Amino acid sequence: MIMNHSLSTSRLDNWLDCRYGAMLREQGWELIFPALAREGGTLVHHILSMVYAKQKKGTSQARFIKTQIKAWTVQMKLKSSQQKWLEEVEELAAYYEVVLPEYFKYWKDVDSPEWLDFEEKSQKDNLFRFSLLLGKTETVTLQGKRDALRAVGKKKSVWVYDHKTHSRIDPSTFISKLKIATQSKLYALVTNEQYENFKGLVYNVIRGKSMRVGKKETLQQFQDRVYDKIQEDPSHFFFRLEIPFTQAEIKTFAEDIRAQAKEYIAWKMGNLPTYRNGSTKICCGVFACAYLQHCANPTTPIEATGLFERRIRSAKITHTS
Ligand code: SF4
Repeated sequence: MIMNHSLSTSRLDNWLDCRYGAMLREQGWELIFPALAREGGTLVHHILSMVYAKQKKGTSQARFIKTQIKAWTVQMKLKSSQQKWLEEVEELAAYYEVVLPEYFKYWKDVDSPEWLDFEEKSQKDNLFRFSLLLGKTETVTLQGKRDALRAVGKKKSVWVYDHKTHSRIDPSTFISKLKIATQSKLYALVTNEQYENFKGLVYNVIRGKSMRVGKKETLQQFQDRVYDKIQEDPSHFFFRLEIPFTQAEIKTFAEDIRAQAKEYIAWKMGNLPTYRNGSTKICCGVFACAYLQHCANPTTPIEATGLFERRIRSAKITHTS
């Protein structure tokens, strides 16, 4: 009899970062006010996927971007009436109103109908499921979602596209960081299994907001300044990094992921302890961990902080035999 476990890639990724954070996440604890930069990143992902999937161009593209940003702004503003939050939402919306049309303009001669799939073209098709043998009688099915897939050139080489909206980027470590990320390893492993001519990952960077509205500046003046900055140096705002993977590397990734999935399953079954990672690199990295303020006051129960609410029921790894 074969025992099969089913596990989402984001769950494994969270667990590798910190078991305590993974436990809170699996219990459904989420920030009442999410990090706005992350919410902006979700908006960008959605717009890119939809524009590419539906081949929107010209005025229809411009209209679509505007409408989506407007709808996002309304949704974000419903989360709080605090002046600071409302201003930050307006500012971020104004930023992407300028940046996104320029992004599509910048890549218009390169982007073509070579796309194979998108996050939102067919949610179902693009969800990948990949079965990995853990032992003689045990497998794990890893599930996840790629941003986009593209087949390029005469040989139809397959690349996974991953959209990133970082504002601060350290060029000396950026590629290595991306290459060793669990998400990258999984994308490589799964796509290599699905497509014979898989080549690697392309990180499609759209620079996140680091510019602020000046004290005496209107939103329109801010947008003009962002526009001018893009014209001065568009490659600072938009760039793509190709990271090819060799078959030997992919084999190593499979070994890593097999060992990690085994440990995760053991933890989930109560055979490994839960503890706070406490590494400042994980707790307060590029994006601070959502639970930072809770962990900084560990004797206060999470429900008493007033910062979190429980949104979903604990999701379990499923086991079938
Ligand atoms: S703040 Fe640090 S210790 Fe706490 S859950 Fe996040 S990563 Fe873990």
